[in-house]
Amino acid sequence: MKSEIIVDASLARKAVPAALTESGRASCARRVLVLDDEIDVARTIAAQVSALGHEARAVTDHEAFCRELSAFRPEILIIDTCMPGHDALDVVRDLKATSETQIIVTSGFGRRMIETVVHSARHYGHDVLGALPKPIRRKALDGLLKQALVRAAPQPPRTAPDGAPPAPPAPTAAELGDALQRKEFLAYFQPKRCLKTNSICGFEALVRWSHPRHGVLSPAAFLPQILEHGLEADLTFQMLDQACDFLAKLPHPGLRVAINCSLATVQLPEFRKRLDAAVLRHRLIPGRLIIEVTESGNAELPQHAIETLVRLRMAGYELSIDDFGTGVSSLMRLVRVPFAELKIDRSFVDGLSKSDEAQDIVASLVTLGRTLDMYVSVEGIEDAATLDRITALGCDVAQGYFIGRPMPADAAARMYLEASGA
Ligand code: C2E
Ligand code: MG
Ligand code: MG
Repeated sequence: MKSEIIVDASLARKAVPAALTESGRASCARRVLVLDDEIDVARTIAAQVSALGHEARAVTDHEAFCRELSAFRPEILIIDTCMPGHDALDVVRDLKATSETQIIVTSGFGRRMIETVVHSARHYGHDVLGALPKPIRRKALDGLLKQALVRAAPQPPRTAPDGAPPAPPAPTAAELGDALQRKEFLAYFQPKRCLKTNSICGFEALVRWSHPRHGVLSPAAFLPQILEHGLEADLTFQMLDQACDFLAKLPHPGLRVAINCSLATVQLPEFRKRLDAAVLRHRLIPGRLIIEVTESGNAELPQHAIETLVRLRMAGYELSIDDFGTGVSSLMRLVRVPFAELKIDRSFVDGLSKSDEAQDIVASLVTLGRTLDMYVSVEGIEDAATLDRITALGCDVAQGYFIGRPMPADAAARMYLEASGA
Protein backbone atom coordinates (compact mmCIF):
# COMPACT_ATOMS: atom_id res chain seq x y z
CA MET A 1 0.00 0.00 0.00
CA LYS A 2 1.26 3.48 -0.85
CA SER A 3 2.13 5.44 2.26
CA GLU A 4 0.24 8.64 2.72
CA ILE A 5 1.20 11.71 4.71
CA ILE A 6 -1.34 14.41 5.24
CA VAL A 7 -0.10 17.74 6.50
CA ASP A 8 -2.70 20.05 7.95
CA ALA A 9 -0.48 23.07 8.45
CA SER A 10 -3.05 25.47 7.05
CA LEU A 11 -5.70 24.45 9.53
CA ALA A 12 -3.17 24.62 12.33
CA ARG A 13 -2.18 28.17 11.37
CA LYS A 14 -5.78 29.26 11.18
CA ALA A 15 -6.43 28.21 14.76
CA VAL A 16 -3.15 29.40 16.28
CA PRO A 17 -3.70 32.03 18.98
CA ALA A 18 -1.76 35.32 19.08
CA ALA A 19 1.26 34.39 21.24
CA LEU A 20 3.73 32.61 18.95
CA THR A 21 7.13 31.14 19.69
CA GLU A 22 10.17 31.70 17.40
CA SER A 23 9.26 28.51 15.58
CA GLY A 24 5.95 30.11 14.63
CA ARG A 25 3.86 27.81 16.77
CA ALA A 26 1.52 28.83 19.54
CA SER A 27 3.35 28.45 22.86
CA CYS A 28 0.86 25.76 23.93
CA ALA A 29 0.57 24.02 20.54
CA ARG A 30 1.93 20.51 20.24
CA ARG A 31 3.21 18.48 17.30
CA VAL A 32 0.75 15.63 16.92
CA LEU A 33 1.23 12.63 14.64
CA VAL A 34 -1.84 10.55 13.80
CA LEU A 35 -1.43 6.93 12.70
CA ASP A 36 -4.52 5.27 11.23
CA ASP A 37 -4.66 2.92 8.28
CA GLU A 38 -7.91 4.44 7.03
CA ILE A 39 -7.11 7.59 5.10
CA ASP A 40 -10.40 9.33 5.79
CA VAL A 41 -10.19 8.64 9.50
CA ALA A 42 -6.57 9.78 9.68
CA ARG A 43 -7.49 12.99 7.87
CA THR A 44 -10.47 13.68 10.08
CA ILE A 45 -8.51 13.22 13.30
CA ALA A 46 -5.66 15.40 12.03
CA ALA A 47 -8.16 18.10 11.09
CA GLN A 48 -9.75 17.92 14.55
CA VAL A 49 -6.33 18.25 16.16
CA SER A 50 -5.42 21.18 13.92
CA ALA A 51 -8.69 22.90 14.66
CA LEU A 52 -7.80 22.73 18.35
CA GLY A 53 -4.66 24.80 17.67
CA HIS A 54 -2.03 22.09 17.32
CA GLU A 55 0.24 21.13 14.47
CA ALA A 56 -0.97 17.83 13.04
CA ARG A 57 0.30 15.31 10.54
CA ALA A 58 -1.34 12.05 9.65
CA VAL A 59 0.14 8.85 8.28
CA THR A 60 -1.49 5.63 7.20
CA ASP A 61 1.26 3.04 7.47
CA HIS A 62 4.27 2.04 9.48
CA GLU A 63 6.89 3.16 6.99
CA ALA A 64 5.56 6.71 6.86
CA PHE A 65 5.09 6.67 10.61
CA CYS A 66 8.79 5.88 11.18
CA ARG A 67 9.82 8.60 8.72
CA GLU A 68 7.68 11.22 10.41
CA LEU A 69 8.97 10.26 13.85
CA SER A 70 12.38 11.65 12.93
CA ALA A 71 11.29 14.34 10.43
CA PHE A 72 8.36 15.84 12.38
CA ARG A 73 9.51 14.88 15.93
CA PRO A 74 5.96 14.58 17.28
CA GLU A 75 5.27 15.25 20.96
CA ILE A 76 1.98 13.36 20.91
CA LEU A 77 1.10 10.22 18.95
CA ILE A 78 -2.50 9.27 18.24
CA ILE A 79 -2.45 5.59 17.33
CA ASP A 80 -5.21 3.36 16.03
CA THR A 81 -5.31 -0.10 17.65
CA CYS A 82 -6.00 -2.30 14.65
CA MET A 83 -3.88 -1.87 11.57
CA PRO A 84 -2.89 -4.49 9.03
CA GLY A 85 0.77 -5.55 9.11
CA HIS A 86 1.99 -3.49 12.01
CA ASP A 87 -0.70 -2.94 14.64
CA ALA A 88 -0.69 -0.76 17.75
CA LEU A 89 0.84 -3.54 19.87
CA ASP A 90 3.82 -3.68 17.47
CA VAL A 91 4.08 0.09 17.47
CA VAL A 92 4.21 0.49 21.25
CA ARG A 93 6.65 -2.40 21.55
CA ASP A 94 9.04 -1.05 18.89
CA LEU A 95 8.80 2.61 19.85
CA LYS A 96 11.43 3.83 22.27
CA ALA A 97 9.70 5.25 25.34
CA THR A 98 10.85 8.83 25.88
CA SER A 99 9.71 11.49 28.28
CA GLU A 100 9.05 13.81 25.31
CA THR A 101 6.44 11.67 23.56
CA GLN A 102 3.00 10.91 24.88
CA ILE A 103 0.46 8.52 23.42
CA ILE A 104 -3.28 8.56 22.81
CA VAL A 105 -4.86 5.28 21.70
CA THR A 106 -7.94 5.21 19.45
CA SER A 107 -10.12 2.32 18.38
CA GLY A 108 -13.40 1.41 16.80
CA PHE A 109 -13.24 -2.00 18.50
CA GLY A 110 -14.65 -1.07 21.87
CA ARG A 111 -13.14 -0.14 25.19
CA ARG A 112 -11.72 -3.58 26.12
CA MET A 113 -9.50 -3.51 23.05
CA ILE A 114 -8.38 0.04 23.78
CA GLU A 115 -7.60 -0.72 27.41
CA THR A 116 -5.53 -3.75 26.44
CA VAL A 117 -3.39 -1.60 24.15
CA VAL A 118 -3.13 1.11 26.82
CA HIS A 119 -1.85 -1.49 29.30
CA SER A 120 0.70 -2.73 26.76
CA ALA A 121 1.91 0.79 26.07
CA ARG A 122 2.34 1.44 29.79
CA HIS A 123 4.08 -1.91 30.14
CA TYR A 124 6.71 -0.69 27.65
CA GLY A 125 7.17 2.50 29.67
CA HIS A 126 5.17 4.94 27.52
CA ASP A 127 3.37 7.91 28.94
CA VAL A 128 -0.21 7.24 27.86
CA LEU A 129 -2.48 10.26 27.97
CA GLY A 130 -5.63 8.23 27.50
CA ALA A 131 -7.90 6.44 25.08
CA LEU A 132 -10.46 7.70 22.59
CA PRO A 133 -13.15 5.44 21.19
CA LYS A 134 -14.11 6.21 17.58
CA PRO A 135 -15.77 8.31 16.36
CA ILE A 136 -13.62 10.74 18.28
CA ARG A 137 -15.48 13.48 20.09
CA ARG A 138 -13.86 16.89 19.84
CA LYS A 139 -14.35 17.60 23.54
CA ALA A 140 -12.68 14.36 24.62
CA LEU A 141 -9.77 14.98 22.25
CA ASP A 142 -9.38 18.53 23.52
CA GLY A 143 -9.41 17.25 27.12
CA LEU A 144 -6.55 14.83 26.48
CA LEU A 145 -4.49 17.37 24.55
CA LYS A 146 -4.91 19.87 27.38
CA GLN A 147 -3.81 17.20 29.82
CA ALA A 148 -0.67 16.83 27.71
CA LEU A 149 0.05 20.50 28.23
CA VAL A 150 -0.29 20.17 31.99
CA ARG A 151 1.93 17.10 32.08
CA ALA A 152 4.58 18.74 29.91
CA ALA A 153 5.05 21.45 32.58
CA PRO A 154 8.14 20.83 34.74
CA GLN A 155 7.29 18.51 37.64
CA PRO A 156 8.62 19.10 41.16
CA PRO A 157 11.19 16.50 42.18
CA ARG A 158 9.62 13.42 43.76
CA THR A 159 10.32 12.96 47.43
CA ALA A 160 10.84 9.59 49.05
CA PRO A 161 7.64 8.12 50.58
CA ASP A 162 6.90 9.42 54.07
CA GLY A 163 10.00 11.60 53.86
CA ALA A 164 12.26 8.56 54.21
CA PRO A 165 15.88 8.98 53.04
CA PRO A 166 17.24 6.79 50.19
CA ALA A 167 17.57 3.15 51.22
CA PRO A 168 20.92 2.25 52.85
CA PRO A 169 22.64 -1.10 52.11
CA ALA A 170 20.66 -4.25 52.98
CA PRO A 171 20.92 -4.95 56.72
CA THR A 172 22.56 -8.14 58.01
CA ALA A 173 20.89 -10.66 60.32
CA ALA A 174 23.03 -9.40 63.22
CA GLU A 175 22.02 -5.75 62.63
CA LEU A 176 18.36 -6.72 62.50
CA GLY A 177 18.68 -8.85 65.64
CA ASP A 178 20.24 -5.90 67.49
CA ALA A 179 17.55 -3.55 66.22
CA LEU A 180 14.86 -5.92 67.47
CA GLN A 181 16.55 -6.10 70.81
CA ARG A 182 16.83 -2.32 71.08
CA LYS A 183 13.16 -2.01 70.03
CA GLU A 184 14.00 0.21 67.08
CA PHE A 185 11.06 -1.04 65.00
CA LEU A 186 8.10 1.27 65.40
CA ALA A 187 4.49 0.88 64.41
CA TYR A 188 3.30 3.79 62.28
CA PHE A 189 -0.46 4.05 61.95
CA GLN A 190 -2.31 4.84 58.73
CA PRO A 191 -5.98 5.84 59.05
CA LYS A 192 -8.82 3.95 57.37
CA ARG A 193 -12.00 5.83 56.59
CA CYS A 194 -15.47 4.27 56.66
CA LEU A 195 -17.21 5.45 53.51
CA LYS A 196 -20.71 5.05 54.96
CA THR A 197 -20.16 7.28 58.00
CA ASN A 198 -17.24 9.26 56.59
CA SER A 199 -15.34 8.81 59.84
CA ILE A 200 -12.07 7.12 60.78
CA CYS A 201 -12.90 3.53 61.67
CA GLY A 202 -9.43 2.16 62.19
CA PHE A 203 -5.73 2.20 61.45
CA GLU A 204 -3.26 -0.14 59.83
CA ALA A 205 -0.02 -0.61 61.77
CA LEU A 206 2.91 -0.40 59.35
CA VAL A 207 6.44 -1.04 60.51
CA ARG A 208 9.19 1.59 60.31
CA TRP A 209 12.78 1.19 61.46
CA SER A 210 13.96 4.13 63.51
CA HIS A 211 17.56 3.60 62.48
CA PRO A 212 20.23 5.29 64.63
CA ARG A 213 22.18 6.47 61.54
CA HIS A 214 19.81 6.37 58.57
CA GLY A 215 16.68 7.84 60.13
CA VAL A 216 13.21 6.40 59.64
CA LEU A 217 13.25 3.54 57.10
CA SER A 218 10.28 2.07 55.21
CA PRO A 219 9.73 -1.72 55.06
CA ALA A 220 11.20 -2.00 51.56
CA ALA A 221 14.63 -1.25 53.11
CA PHE A 222 14.58 -4.14 55.60
CA LEU A 223 11.46 -6.36 55.46
CA PRO A 224 12.82 -8.75 52.80
CA GLN A 225 15.85 -9.37 55.06
CA ILE A 226 13.61 -9.78 58.13
CA LEU A 227 11.74 -12.52 56.27
CA GLU A 228 14.90 -14.05 54.84
CA HIS A 229 16.53 -14.37 58.27
CA GLY A 230 13.43 -15.80 59.93
CA LEU A 231 12.85 -12.75 62.15
CA GLU A 232 9.30 -11.95 61.11
CA ALA A 233 7.66 -13.55 64.13
CA ASP A 234 9.73 -11.42 66.54
CA LEU A 235 8.88 -8.32 64.56
CA THR A 236 5.18 -9.22 64.52
CA PHE A 237 5.09 -9.63 68.31
CA GLN A 238 6.64 -6.17 68.79
CA MET A 239 4.13 -4.67 66.35
CA LEU A 240 1.33 -6.47 68.14
CA ASP A 241 2.33 -4.93 71.47
CA GLN A 242 2.50 -1.44 69.98
CA ALA A 243 -0.86 -1.90 68.26
CA CYS A 244 -2.43 -3.02 71.55
CA ASP A 245 -0.85 -0.05 73.41
CA PHE A 246 -2.35 2.27 70.81
CA LEU A 247 -5.81 0.71 71.11
CA ALA A 248 -5.72 0.70 74.91
CA LYS A 249 -5.19 4.48 74.90
CA LEU A 250 -8.23 4.99 72.64
CA PRO A 251 -10.99 3.05 74.35
CA HIS A 252 -13.50 3.50 71.55
CA PRO A 253 -15.05 0.07 70.91
CA GLY A 254 -15.55 0.65 67.18
CA LEU A 255 -11.94 1.62 66.52
CA ARG A 256 -9.78 -1.22 65.23
CA VAL A 257 -6.14 -1.70 64.33
CA ALA A 258 -4.81 -4.05 61.68
CA ILE A 259 -1.45 -5.75 61.92
CA ASN A 260 0.32 -7.39 58.97
CA CYS A 261 1.39 -11.02 59.23
CA SER A 262 2.70 -13.63 56.90
CA LEU A 263 0.80 -16.89 56.79
CA ALA A 264 3.91 -18.64 58.16
CA THR A 265 3.89 -16.54 61.34
CA VAL A 266 0.14 -16.92 61.84
CA GLN A 267 0.61 -20.70 61.84
CA LEU A 268 3.21 -20.73 64.63
CA PRO A 269 1.67 -22.21 67.82
CA GLU A 270 3.28 -19.31 69.67
CA PHE A 271 1.38 -16.75 67.59
CA ARG A 272 -2.03 -17.47 69.06
CA LYS A 273 -0.61 -17.56 72.61
CA ARG A 274 1.13 -14.20 72.19
CA LEU A 275 -1.94 -12.69 70.61
CA ASP A 276 -4.27 -13.76 73.43
CA ALA A 277 -1.75 -12.66 76.07
CA ALA A 278 -1.33 -9.18 74.52
CA VAL A 279 -5.09 -8.68 74.25
CA LEU A 280 -5.60 -9.77 77.85
CA ARG A 281 -2.75 -7.62 79.17
CA HIS A 282 -4.17 -4.51 77.48
CA ARG A 283 -7.76 -5.36 78.48
CA LEU A 284 -8.97 -5.38 74.91
CA ILE A 285 -11.47 -7.54 73.09
CA PRO A 286 -10.09 -9.60 70.18
CA GLY A 287 -12.50 -7.94 67.73
CA ARG A 288 -10.48 -4.72 67.93
CA LEU A 289 -7.56 -6.41 66.21
CA ILE A 290 -7.51 -7.25 62.53
CA ILE A 291 -4.97 -9.79 61.32
CA GLU A 292 -4.04 -8.86 57.76
CA VAL A 293 -2.75 -11.89 55.95
CA THR A 294 -0.97 -11.09 52.74
CA GLU A 295 -2.57 -12.68 49.74
CA SER A 296 0.54 -13.05 47.58
CA GLY A 297 3.19 -15.65 48.34
CA ASN A 298 2.15 -19.23 48.97
CA ALA A 299 0.17 -20.70 46.14
CA GLU A 300 -1.42 -23.25 48.42
CA LEU A 301 -3.37 -22.66 51.57
CA PRO A 302 -2.70 -25.82 53.57
CA GLN A 303 -5.44 -27.32 55.67
CA HIS A 304 -3.45 -26.51 58.81
CA ALA A 305 -3.40 -22.82 57.88
CA ILE A 306 -7.12 -22.84 57.16
CA GLU A 307 -7.82 -24.34 60.58
CA THR A 308 -5.58 -21.80 62.33
CA LEU A 309 -7.33 -18.90 60.61
CA VAL A 310 -10.80 -20.29 61.28
CA ARG A 311 -9.93 -20.68 64.99
CA LEU A 312 -8.64 -17.11 65.17
CA ARG A 313 -11.98 -15.99 63.78
CA MET A 314 -13.83 -18.22 66.25
CA ALA A 315 -11.92 -16.48 69.04
CA GLY A 316 -13.24 -13.13 67.79
CA TYR A 317 -10.24 -11.75 65.88
CA GLU A 318 -11.01 -10.14 62.55
CA LEU A 319 -9.24 -11.53 59.51
CA SER A 320 -8.36 -9.54 56.45
CA ILE A 321 -7.02 -10.75 53.14
CA ASP A 322 -4.44 -8.14 52.12
CA ASP A 323 -3.39 -7.16 48.59
CA PHE A 324 -6.32 -9.08 47.15
CA GLY A 325 -5.96 -9.90 43.48
CA THR A 326 -2.18 -10.27 43.44
CA GLY A 327 -1.97 -13.91 44.52
CA VAL A 328 -2.89 -17.08 42.75
CA SER A 329 -5.39 -18.83 44.96
CA SER A 330 -7.52 -15.86 45.95
CA LEU A 331 -10.93 -17.39 45.44
CA MET A 332 -10.09 -20.65 47.15
CA ARG A 333 -8.85 -18.78 50.20
CA LEU A 334 -11.87 -16.54 50.28
CA VAL A 335 -14.34 -19.36 50.26
CA ARG A 336 -12.58 -21.54 52.80
CA VAL A 337 -11.65 -18.95 55.42
CA PRO A 338 -14.13 -16.59 57.11
CA PHE A 339 -12.24 -13.40 56.28
CA ALA A 340 -14.12 -10.29 57.38
CA GLU A 341 -12.30 -7.86 55.12
CA LEU A 342 -11.20 -8.00 51.52
CA LYS A 343 -8.50 -5.42 50.81
CA ILE A 344 -8.24 -4.65 47.14
CA ASP A 345 -4.64 -4.22 46.09
CA ARG A 346 -3.38 -0.77 45.15
CA SER A 347 -2.58 -1.88 41.61
CA PHE A 348 -6.31 -1.93 40.77
CA VAL A 349 -6.74 1.62 41.97
CA ASP A 350 -4.08 3.27 39.81
CA GLY A 351 -5.92 5.43 37.28
CA LEU A 352 -9.26 4.04 38.50
CA SER A 353 -11.28 7.13 37.66
CA LYS A 354 -10.12 6.95 34.03
CA SER A 355 -10.24 3.20 33.46
CA ASP A 356 -13.57 1.47 32.86
CA GLU A 357 -11.80 -1.85 33.13
CA ALA A 358 -10.41 -1.09 36.62
CA GLN A 359 -13.84 0.13 37.69
CA ASP A 360 -15.43 -3.09 36.45
CA ILE A 361 -12.91 -5.10 38.48
CA VAL A 362 -13.53 -3.10 41.66
CA ALA A 363 -17.31 -3.36 41.16
CA SER A 364 -17.01 -7.14 40.74
CA LEU A 365 -14.88 -7.43 43.86
CA VAL A 366 -17.45 -5.43 45.82
CA THR A 367 -20.14 -7.88 44.66
CA LEU A 368 -17.90 -10.81 45.56
CA GLY A 369 -17.27 -9.34 49.01
CA ARG A 370 -21.00 -8.81 49.58
CA THR A 371 -21.79 -12.37 48.51
CA LEU A 372 -19.24 -13.74 50.97
CA ASP A 373 -20.40 -11.38 53.72
CA MET A 374 -17.18 -9.36 53.80
CA TYR A 375 -16.56 -5.67 53.81
CA VAL A 376 -14.41 -4.32 51.04
CA SER A 377 -11.49 -1.94 51.59
CA VAL A 378 -9.44 -0.21 48.98
CA GLU A 379 -5.86 0.89 49.58
CA GLY A 380 -3.77 3.48 47.76
CA ILE A 381 -6.36 6.27 47.52
CA GLU A 382 -4.33 9.30 46.50
CA ASP A 383 -6.94 11.79 45.25
CA ALA A 384 -10.53 12.95 45.63
CA ALA A 385 -11.60 11.59 42.23
CA THR A 386 -10.56 8.04 43.16
CA LEU A 387 -12.22 8.35 46.57
CA ASP A 388 -15.45 9.45 44.87
CA ARG A 389 -15.24 6.55 42.40
CA ILE A 390 -14.74 3.85 45.02
CA THR A 391 -17.53 5.35 47.14
CA ALA A 392 -19.85 5.25 44.13
CA LEU A 393 -18.79 1.65 43.42
CA GLY A 394 -19.98 0.64 46.89
CA CYS A 395 -16.66 0.05 48.69
CA ASP A 396 -16.86 0.20 52.48
CA VAL A 397 -13.48 1.46 53.64
CA ALA A 398 -10.77 3.63 52.08
CA GLN A 399 -7.10 3.91 52.94
CA GLY A 400 -4.43 6.00 51.26
CA TYR A 401 -2.33 9.14 51.32
CA PHE A 402 -5.40 11.24 50.48
CA ILE A 403 -6.95 10.24 53.80
CA GLY A 404 -3.73 10.16 55.77
CA ARG A 405 -0.16 8.91 55.60
CA PRO A 406 1.23 6.38 58.04
CA MET A 407 2.29 8.36 61.13
CA PRO A 408 3.72 7.78 64.62
CA ALA A 409 1.31 6.58 67.31
CA ASP A 410 0.97 9.98 69.06
CA ALA A 411 0.14 11.81 65.86
CA ALA A 412 -2.34 9.12 64.81
CA ALA A 413 -4.09 9.23 68.19
CA ARG A 414 -4.32 13.05 68.00
CA MET A 415 -5.69 12.85 64.48
CA TYR A 416 -8.31 10.34 65.56
CA LEU A 417 -9.39 12.30 68.63
CA GLU A 418 -9.67 15.55 66.66
CA ALA A 419 -11.58 13.89 63.80
CA SER A 420 -13.97 12.10 66.14
CA GLY A 421 -14.50 15.22 68.25
CA ALA A 422 -13.52 13.29 71.39
P1 C2E B 1 0.44 -3.26 52.84
O1 C2E B 1 0.09 -4.02 54.05
O2 C2E B 1 -0.36 -3.52 51.62
O3 C2E B 1 0.40 -1.73 53.26
C1 C2E B 1 0.06 -0.70 52.42
C2 C2E B 1 1.28 -0.01 51.88
O4 C2E B 1 0.88 1.00 50.97
C3 C2E B 1 2.10 0.71 52.92
O5 C2E B 1 3.45 0.72 52.49
C4 C2E B 1 1.57 2.12 52.86
O6 C2E B 1 2.47 3.09 53.36
C5 C2E B 1 1.38 2.25 51.38
N1 C2E B 1 0.37 3.23 51.05
C6 C2E B 1 -0.71 3.58 51.76
N2 C2E B 1 -1.44 4.49 51.13
C7 C2E B 1 -0.81 4.74 49.97
C8 C2E B 1 -1.09 5.61 48.86
O7 C2E B 1 -2.07 6.35 48.83
N3 C2E B 1 -0.21 5.58 47.84
C9 C2E B 1 0.89 4.79 47.84
N4 C2E B 1 1.70 4.85 46.79
N5 C2E B 1 1.18 3.96 48.85
C10 C2E B 1 0.33 3.93 49.90
P2 C2E B 1 4.60 0.38 53.50
O8 C2E B 1 4.32 0.96 54.85
O9 C2E B 1 5.88 0.74 52.81
O10 C2E B 1 4.47 -1.18 53.65
C11 C2E B 1 4.71 -2.02 52.57
C12 C2E B 1 4.31 -3.41 52.89
O11 C2E B 1 5.17 -3.94 53.90
C13 C2E B 1 2.91 -3.54 53.48
O12 C2E B 1 1.98 -3.52 52.44
C14 C2E B 1 3.00 -4.90 54.16
O13 C2E B 1 2.81 -5.95 53.23
C15 C2E B 1 4.44 -4.90 54.63
N6 C2E B 1 4.45 -4.56 56.06
C16 C2E B 1 4.38 -3.34 56.65
N7 C2E B 1 4.45 -3.47 57.98
C17 C2E B 1 4.56 -4.80 58.24
C18 C2E B 1 4.67 -5.58 59.44
O14 C2E B 1 4.65 -5.09 60.57
N8 C2E B 1 4.78 -6.94 59.28
C19 C2E B 1 4.79 -7.54 58.06
N9 C2E B 1 4.88 -8.86 57.99
N10 C2E B 1 4.67 -6.84 56.91
C20 C2E B 1 4.56 -5.49 57.01
MG1 MG C 1 -1.52 -4.51 54.94
MG1 MG D 1 -1.97 -4.14 50.97
